[in-house]
Amino acid sequence: MNTTDPDVIEQICRHFDQRGTAMYVGEPVTQTEHALQCAAAAEKSGASAALVTASLLHDVGHLLHALGEDCADNGIDDQHERLGAAWLEQFFPPAVCDPVKLHVPAKRYRCAVDTHYHAQLSPASVQSLRLQGGPMNAEEIEAFRQHEWFEAALQLRSWDEAAKIPGLKTPSLQHFLPYVARSTR
Ligand code: FE
Repeated sequence: MNTTDPDVIEQICRHFDQRGTAMYVGEPVTQTEHALQCAAAAEKSGASAALVTASLLHDVGHLLHALGEDCADNGIDDQHERLGAAWLEQFFPPAVCDPVKLHVPAKRYRCAVDTHYHAQLSPASVQSLRLQGGPMNAEEIEAFRQHEWFEAALQLRSWDEAAKIPGLKTPSLQHFLPYVARSTR
């Protein structure tokens, strides 16, 4: 653990405390429930500490911005993946930050290469996809596949999609903090 850890852990807890009870827009879970379900799925799959941390914090951008919870309804892409990754870069290496940054491109990628996937997106996810640029074109697909954290981003994305189950029991935020502490730079 390095010297920034107490600070980052404290900041993460504070963000979940302050904004985590907000609903994950258009889905039947709160931001905190969504984050915990995503992290729990990563843990269950035997993911690395860095990828469990990325899963827990992939939507931290939603907790940081002040655009309002329903900005997609107003035609605004909040760019939460970039906002979140930029914040995480203060504390974490690319193994955490890049899958976070790529979890929206991962949706655009999968929509382009897998029509079944596109068809099963939730209505809220379809709405945000439009604002995020729609399915990738051939050039974007090629570039995305070259990325070092391409596979990790796709894994995170699949846990993200599934992490919308009302009332699902998960470990608490406390349970995941050791993964976070272990993953700092
Ligand atoms: Fe998410």
